[in-house]
Amino acid sequence: MKQALEAIRAAALAHITAAQGEAELEALRVRYLGKKGELTAILKQMGTLAAEERPVVGALANTVREALEAAVRARAAALASESTARRLAAETIDVTLPGAAPALGGMHPTDRVQADLEEIFMGMGFEVVTGPEVEYDQYNFTLLNMPESHPSRDTQDTFYITDTILLRTQTSPVQIRTMLANKPPIRIICPGRVYRSDPADATHSPVFTQIEGLAVDKGITFSDLKGTLDKFFKQLYGSSIQTRFRPHHFAYTEPSAEMDLSCFKCGGKGCPMCKWEGWIEMLGCGMVHPKVLENCGIDPAVYSGFAFGMGLDRITLMRYNIDDIRLLFENDLRFLKQFV
Ligand SMILES: [Zn+2]
Repeated sequence: MKQALEAIRAAALAHITAAQGEAELEALRVRYLGKKGELTAILKQMGTLAAEERPVVGALANTVREALEAAVRARAAALASESTARRLAAETIDVTLPGAAPALGGMHPTDRVQADLEEIFMGMGFEVVTGPEVEYDQYNFTLLNMPESHPSRDTQDTFYITDTILLRTQTSPVQIRTMLANKPPIRIICPGRVYRSDPADATHSPVFTQIEGLAVDKGITFSDLKGTLDKFFKQLYGSSIQTRFRPHHFAYTEPSAEMDLSCFKCGGKGCPMCKWEGWIEMLGCGMVHPKVLENCGIDPAVYSGFAFGMGLDRITLMRYNIDDIRLLFENDLRFLKQFV
């Protein structure tokens, strides 16, 4: 029996030490130490031994049991720390590796210029109002004193969706919507995208950005228009900037004018920016036509107003020295990333 015990001890220790996982180790524990295990089977034969041999064999059996139990515990601990080590190795994070920087966007140059312009006008008491780009011809033309026969309504110039719905050619319909919905005093600017059936080249695009302004109140005069625009451009380009107004014709203003700006590059001496004229044509403006006020339910005998409109893209091109308007609409990241 002693030999049998020693044989079990040797075989069991070899197996336990070599166990490759918790499941295998548990199977070995049951095989050797379980109630129906090999060691238990030997101990059940103790009754066949001579009385003087029993304590000796019993002591040996206990030693073997303790040795096997200790081996199982040791192997279990070793397996656990091996698996922890494996997990740590697999999940290692190298904190010295350079991080993956998230791709950050930036404001489009036109949006930057628009935000600057809005801030100046808001400082002068104007409110920023926007409206739909798909518009009724009534708001885009008829109420602005441009009847059916007006040349701007030609399908050659305007994108029509149906006979009465079109892509707005200016942000003036926002002025109309505001006057229809509100009583004076009104002081608004309307920035936004507008559409005209122009072939695209370096200075034209079928989609472009406008910013228009409207002020309606009692006693508003042409001097208020001149003062507002002069103040605005001095804030945008500096106090040495001069403005001048030339008579013009628009259907929705009377009198109407075009406004030039003294060249902010050369100060009026002449340079490529102003085509050597010293002045840059900037915008159209005028006193709101009495018929337009009437169309919007505002009594022209009581109220008067001024309006102006300018191309935001042109101001953007001049500010950043960009020589092609198409770059503003092509969404080419090589171009846009220069402004991030
Ligand atoms: Zn110049």
